[in-house]
Order: sequence, then structure tokens, then C-alpha cells
Amino acid sequence: MERYCIKVPTKEAEKVRRILLDNELLDGDFKIFSSTNFIFLPIVRLVPLQLLKELQLSNQIEVVKKEFDPIEKPPTLEGILGFNPQHELIGNVAIIDSEIDQKKEVANALLKAYPKLKTVVASKSPVQGEFRVKKYEFVKGECTTETVHKENGCKFTLDLEKTYFTPRLATERQRVASNVCKGDKVIDMFAGVGPYSILIAKSGLAEKIVAIDKNPNAISYLKKNIKLNKVENIDAIEADARYLSSKYNGFADHIIMNLPHSAYEFLDSAISMVKAGGIIYYYTINPENNLFGASIKQINESCERLGKECIIKEERIVRSYAPHQYNICIEFRVNNDKV
Ligand code: SAM
Repeated sequence: MERYCIKVPTKEAEKVRRILLDNELLDGDFKIFSSTNFIFLPIVRLVPLQLLKELQLSNQIEVVKKEFDPIEKPPTLEGILGFNPQHELIGNVAIIDSEIDQKKEVANALLKAYPKLKTVVASKSPVQGEFRVKKYEFVKGECTTETVHKENGCKFTLDLEKTYFTPRLATERQRVASNVCKGDKVIDMFAGVGPYSILIAKSGLAEKIVAIDKNPNAISYLKKNIKLNKVENIDAIEADARYLSSKYNGFADHIIMNLPHSAYEFLDSAISMVKAGGIIYYYTINPENNLFGASIKQINESCERLGKECIIKEERIVRSYAPHQYNICIEFRVNNDKV
């Protein structure tokens, strides 16, 4: 189809492409193509002359008309099936519900709708056990539960059946990571494959991140992820976080406690490991009729027991967990010993 486009010398093409994108002028429905020395960038409407002048590039840039091939868009799930089945994407694996009707048809549709998808599995169990993992039933594609998931500019290699991972905490991880300042020390008590630790390490601000997990598979993937993301200041430790409180007594400016079903058992250890003035991010699951009160009481009792002063900084709902149940976070500061 004939379209207006910007003809730009190859060496300047990326700069121009970005400017067109930023100004919502690049036409994403057509394929960019090249000749020997030029790139042709399709545009949605004629580019204002002023913008072209501002580019201050070579005088070889021109607006011309050319034939373009359309970009073929994959069909939508709704278009294929007539409905939108519930599903979750982790890397190139799609997870559907085991109770769903017509699993094979849904899997075929998912593989068509997401061209990069390799595998479709159905969850066979809830998140369970000490290591918080799930069981899956293979449905279609490549028979594997290992994948690489991209989140917040990081890559995480993981095995869905051997390690815990949920993409639903991506925004929460970003929120916590943004609180870390230059020179801070962080303890990620239940680190899993490292989505908090690696994101924090990527900013380059933290002096040290101690990432602990009791699951040997989680630590093995965490070590792979440290290499994959080219970060260096993380110590990956396979251990029960409960027993590291004397080694890291008063060590951390931030402690992340992402083990929602039993974090309260680890409160004393976390409070011992935080520096005076440091912050603990305490995650738990609570009913809607007592979202924060009971947990704040447990936090206060634990601080009291250890002779520390506790200041609740923030209480928030992270996500809905089950009917009338919420995954919540309480952020609290632990101050100097009480006298
Ligand atoms: N923070 C990670 C994330 O956001 O993906 C993982 C969170 S997952 C809910 C909790 C993790 O705690 C699991 O990887 C589990 O193996 C680990 N875990 C359970 N008990 C532990 C313990 N006593 N000490 C250290 N890690 C533990």
C-alpha cells in the first residue's frame, strides 16, 4: 500500500525513528524497509516541517511516497474463541486453569494469539508447601516449565514447578526498589529467583544485597539470574532466614519479607537484622474485615519484645488474593532501642 514516509540515511535512522515514535508519527501498521543507504519510515500523517528542521540532521532526509507491506497482527483470543479465557503469561509459558473447558482449543488459540509462546500448561494445584510452588499439567507446545520472564528491565530464568514466581508483583517490586538509596544495605529474606534483589541491584545504588532462600532450586536460579542481569553486589544464600539474625544483626537499611502466609514467624529475626532507622516491608494475607489491625499488633508486640521502637510508615493493599482476602504490605521503621 502506498504511504507517506521519511527517507533517512541509515546512520541517522534510529534517531529519527525515536523522534517519530515520541511524537506518535510512526505508523506501526506497516513494515519499515531499507535500500542500500536509506531507511524508509512510514508515517501516520505528514510530519510538520518544523519538526524536521529541529532534527538538524543531514539534508538528505525527505518525505516521499513508497509502497509498504502491512505488519501482520496475530489474531486475538476473542477473535479465535469468541471469548477471553483467563490466563497468565510467564516468559513464553501460558498458564490456564485446570477446570477450564476445551483446554486443547484454548491452548491452540493462545499459541496463535501470542506468537512467542512456546508452552501451555494448566495449574493443577494452588501455591503450596514451604517453597510456595505449584504443580502443572502439560497441555500443548514444548513440554517444559522452564522459561525466561522479562520484568522491569530484568530477565528471570525460572522453573515454574521448582520455584515461586508471580508477575503480579511487578509494580510492587518497583515501588520497593525505588526506596533504596545510595550505599543502602538490603536483606531479601525470601528472595526466590530474585525479582526484588535483582531489580534493586540493577539501579547500582545499594552497597550490598543479601538474598536468602531455603529452596535450593530458587538459589540455583537466582545465581543464574545474577549472571544473566550482569549484577554483582548480591550474596545469594541458601538458608533458613530465621537462623541468620545473629550473622546480620543490625545490618540492613531495608528488609523485604515476602512470605505472606507465615511472615509473622520471622518478625523477630527481621527486627534483629534491621539497622536503627531501617525499614521492613512486611507482606501478609488478611481478610477484608481486618486488613491491617491484627498484623500491626503482631509487629508492635515483636518490637516491644526486642526492646525496639516501631513506627508504621504505610499500610497498603498490594493485590486481591482470594474472595474477601487481600495481599497487603505494612512498611514500618524500627528505631533505636527503647530505654
Ligand atoms: N520474593 C520472591 C518473589 O517475589 O518472587 C519469592 C517469594 S515466595 C512467596 C517465598 C519464598 O520464600 C519461596 O521462594 C520459599 O522457598 C522461601 N522460603 C520459605 N521459607 C523460608 C525460610 N524459612 N527461609 C528462607 N526462605 C524461605
